[in-house]
Amino acid sequence: MKIYLDNNATTRMAPEVLDAMMPFLNDQYGNPSSFHTFGSSLMEHIEIARQQVADLIGAFPSEIIFTSGGTESDNTALFYGIGADSGKPGLVTSVVEHPAILETAGHIEQTGHPLGLVSVKSTGSVNLNSLEELVNPNTGLVSIMKANNETGVIMPVKEAAEIAHKAGALFHTDAVQAVGKIPVDVKAEGIDLLSLSAHKFHGPKGVGALYVREGLKLNPFMHGGHQEKGMRSGTYNIAGIVGLGKAAEMGNCFIAEEALKTASLLEKLETGILKGCSGAFIAGASAERLPNTSTVLFKGVESEAVLTLIDLAGICVSSGSACSTGSKDPSYVLTSMGISATDANTAIRFSLSMYTSDQDIDYVLEVLPPIVEKLRKISPYA
Ligand code: PLP
Repeated sequence: MKIYLDNNATTRMAPEVLDAMMPFLNDQYGNPSSFHTFGSSLMEHIEIARQQVADLIGAFPSEIIFTSGGTESDNTALFYGIGADSGKPGLVTSVVEHPAILETAGHIEQTGHPLGLVSVKSTGSVNLNSLEELVNPNTGLVSIMKANNETGVIMPVKEAAEIAHKAGALFHTDAVQAVGKIPVDVKAEGIDLLSLSAHKFHGPKGVGALYVREGLKLNPFMHGGHQEKGMRSGTYNIAGIVGLGKAAEMGNCFIAEEALKTASLLEKLETGILKGCSGAFIAGASAERLPNTSTVLFKGVESEAVLTLIDLAGICVSSGSACSTGSKDPSYVLTSMGISATDANTAIRFSLSMYTSDQDIDYVLEVLPPIVEKLRKISPYA
């Protein structure tokens, strides 16, 4: 028995995606940059994928650069987005960003760039007043995530982009958890740079994209053989790129339908947990959230113990971001929302996908409440 509810860590690849990739892992093994037709004819498939990704986020294909995933897209956007337009050195981001942003921002600060960290409200949404206070004429780049990986809280990206632009700064969003789950429109939301990653929406791992608004000139992060118009050198991961394209195409077709189905399963899960487990509450409950994500805090019951017992029952969930699993530190996302460290250490994140079934949720609701209640009885904190 395996019930997989850890889709913000990674998703199962769609069979259609695997089928689309197979020829490029098999007999169509050429290098798209080669002179001969066997290799160069594959370039057409890269361009189809570029169009599919562009369509998913309302961009032009010429604005899409393929990368190795969200982390590389975030690093490129931050290292080379600052000052790309204006030469202004300041960077402003939020306290709840993924480590791919926060760690990168820390390194950038060490090289002499002023860094501002925007606070969040108790709902988990970024505090736009704090952003207004931190952005100044010296700010070159503002980076605010589209949706948080732990709480699923959707951020006011359009408003944040307006604040950045008013100060003459560029705006980047880490949309790794949003793309493929909710509609994202780079033009309507005023986004200059956007990161996405295939494995978060049923594509393969190790491939993603960076959207760079037309007219914006970024320095390349990877130097070498001049692929991607010199913006990202390295032999094309053609199977991965085709898989990303197929996942984007599927996301574009089914986003509304899947979001409705996932949201109704999530509501059933949340209602069942709140009813069955005394003292449970949901982080960011009053905020607009992704249709697939719920972080539940089981007051008085340490998440490590719950994780261990539900893992034995075949349920895969996490206590926060995949990167912090195994760490005893409370989630900085939750503590920055004003949740105490003790309560933050009781958090379990459930993240659903289009492959989650009604039976999966029924099973969790049957297994989880008795485990929580059993642990509560022996907990020193309860
Ligand atoms: N940004 C966010 C919000 C994420 O959740 C993740 C992965 O968990 C990343 C960036 C990193 O993406 P990747 O795993 O493709 O490097």
